[in-house]
Amino acid sequence: MTDRRTELAENLARVEERIAAACAAAGRAREDVTLIVVTKTYPASDVRILAELGVRHVAENRDQDAAPKAAACADLDLTWHFVGQLQTNKVRSVAGYAQVVQSVDRLKLVSALSTAAVRAGRELDCLLQVALDAEAGERGERGGVAPEGVEELAAAVDDAPGLRLRGLMTVAPLAGPYAGRQRAAFERLMEFSSHLRVNRPAANMVSAGMSADLEDAVAAGATHVRIGTAVLGVRPRLG
Ligand SMILES: *Cc1c(COP(=O)(O)O)cnc(C)c1O
Repeated sequence: MTDRRTELAENLARVEERIAAACAAAGRAREDVTLIVVTKTYPASDVRILAELGVRHVAENRDQDAAPKAAACADLDLTWHFVGQLQTNKVRSVAGYAQVVQSVDRLKLVSALSTAAVRAGRELDCLLQVALDAEAGERGERGGVAPEGVEELAAAVDDAPGLRLRGLMTVAPLAGPYAGRQRAAFERLMEFSSHLRVNRPAANMVSAGMSADLEDAVAAGATHVRIGTAVLGVRPRLG
């Protein structure tokens, strides 16, 4: 094994242990939580190693980096998730490789994604990104729709050809009433998820939790955790 392969295998094993322990502590089955490895800023060669080590879900947050990486890894059995703030002029590219867009946060993006999905002949899975700290009518600092806007956005995705509403995503807020209270933030997201599922049982994905707070997310009920640093190492730059 190369050094990098050994490093990634060890890191993955540690993350796997953390997820398993968090599931056990919460009385949840391990298979109820899906690991998504966030490979942003890391090369396609790392994605390839991760796939060989059994990773099936990867995520990226910038189309400029993700598009060539996904193309270089097109032979691998991977599901690509897009988790970054998404401009409408990038939507067509993203719809070419991503199966899941987790950062749907405004009506204009819904119509752009729908057009791109139909044009590509694909069905895109969509998660609404909820900014728990955003005021009504505004978007979060790191993207996301304010809680008050969730229902309107959900209805738009319901009606959009080529899109399937699959659930909700959040990033724990750094400021506002939830700053430093990841568990409370993720529990709030679960409440929104419960509301959403009343009329949309298939929208059952809850994407929450990153390297620092995956235990809080699993305890709250997350179905998907997005882990970057703990698997790949500290990123050389913000991304
Ligand atoms: C970078 C990123 C992650 C992973 O964060 P880590 O702290 O490196 O695990 C998760 N979600 C989103 C939206 C990200 O941009």
